[in-house]
Amino acid sequence: MAEPRVLIVGAGLAGLAAAVGLARAGFASLVVDQARAPGGAIHRQPLPGVAAHGLPAQRRRWQNLRAEVTAEGDRIEILCNHRFAGIDADGVALLTGERSRFIRPAAVILATGATERVVPVPGWTLPGVTTVGAIQTQLKTTGEPPAGRVLLAGSGPLLCAAAAELAAAGNPPVAIVEAGRPFRHAADALALPAGYLAEASAHLARLLLARVPIRCGMHLSRIDRHGDTLVARAEGGGRHLDFAVDRIGLHDGIRPNGYGAAGTTVPVALAGDAREALGARAALEDGRRAGAALAARLAGRPVPPDMSPALERERAAQQRLRRIHAHDLGARLVAIGDDTVLCRCENRTAGDLRALGGDPTDRELRLRGRFAMGRCQGRFCGEWVRRLQGDDPADAPLGAVRLPVRPLPLADLIDAGEPDEEN
Ligand SMILES: Cc1cc2nc3c(=O)[nH]c(=O)nc-3n(C[C@H](O)[C@H](O)[C@H](O)COP(=O)(O)OP(=O)(O)OC[C@H]3O[C@@H](n4cnc5c(N)ncnc54)[C@H](O)[C@@H]3O)c2cc1C
Repeated sequence: MAEPRVLIVGAGLAGLAAAVGLARAGFASLVVDQARAPGGAIHRQPLPGVAAHGLPAQRRRWQNLRAEVTAEGDRIEILCNHRFAGIDADGVALLTGERSRFIRPAAVILATGATERVVPVPGWTLPGVTTVGAIQTQLKTTGEPPAGRVLLAGSGPLLCAAAAELAAAGNPPVAIVEAGRPFRHAADALALPAGYLAEASAHLARLLLARVPIRCGMHLSRIDRHGDTLVARAEGGGRHLDFAVDRIGLHDGIRPNGYGAAGTTVPVALAGDAREALGARAALEDGRRAGAALAARLAGRPVPPDMSPALERERAAQQRLRRIHAHDLGARLVAIGDDTVLCRCENRTAGDLRALGGDPTDRELRLRGRFAMGRCQGRFCGEWVRRLQGDDPADAPLGAVRLPVRPLPLADLIDAGEPDEEN
């Protein structure tokens, strides 16, 4: 029987860095990713024939990591187009995809990245309205920006980064609607690490050149569709603005992509944004840390600490960014009317939540309300359900930690057959 390998879920910066860390300590790993190629959120690879994207420093970082993976030879196997569907109490993991299978890994590292947050607003589920990340994905994979007039709205540094990418690709957005007031926080901004400042300056210079207006202290209060046109109303500071556009990208930050691996007998570790959403630099560092820590644990050696000075610096920088983009989220939540969809998987509204009465249990939320029961299993709606209930989502996430981590067709289970003794 072959030596059991470590299963790493996610072939982004954290997953590949963890694989390198393990390989250097003598452990083989299988890295699975549901995407068509390694890269994760930031280094998503273009389709064949499309030019590579991103700032030169980012491209170098990715090329260096790929070279490190290659140098480890057959200690690292990467399997794309396959999704990790969970792991059971006996340590049997299910991978679904072109060749679904059960495997028995020696340990698991979840490097599944982050998901985007979008504060629900009436009309956010209309055709033509997506996350900003989806617009970036289109741009990165095809090299083509969305056609027509684009509006980006929400909060956080990704809005300017994506807007600059659209401008560089030849279709700058008509405006950015930013709920915070980042330009009022000069002291915090200047105290950011040099790399952050250089990236932000490059993006802002591009936006200035392309004359993209940034409407600060405003948020979208509703989106309507009139024929082929989306009409978005932005409000804030006692004024309002209407935008008639073809495409809208929404984004309110990112949160760790919680994937359940609770209650299994094999060691499970988190790495990168899946552990704490601290951005790309931290993901690389944290992946290396997670790989080295798991190798030490498997070899029975002392395990290094969870945080390094470099990770602490990234955490401080992210906290600073959150202060720079801070705004009154409560005011946006109060404005969520009964007709606003919270769960787009099952089309459940804020009114459906309120109809459940004062203090529904999680079971009632699921079975009567159908919240967190759809394809995303609460990864997107869970936060807003909790917040509208007046609870902190961090205290009690309304998400699934069971197998399978997402609903899957029975055919995937049948195709998977019996657990492999070799993995
Ligand atoms: C939409 C989005 C856009 C971003 N854009 C930027 C940006 O422009 N600039 C910037 O500096 N930072 C950006 N970030 C943040 C940055 O991408 C991350 O900090 C960094 O990529 C994190 O690396 P990671 O390896 O932890 O996760 P990721 O790079 O997100 O990689 C996670 C990988 O896990 C895979 N995966 C998830 N679940 C499963 C599963 N069940 N089975 C198999 N595979 C799975 C995904 O396909 C993905 O490839 C963005 C984040 C998001 C979510």
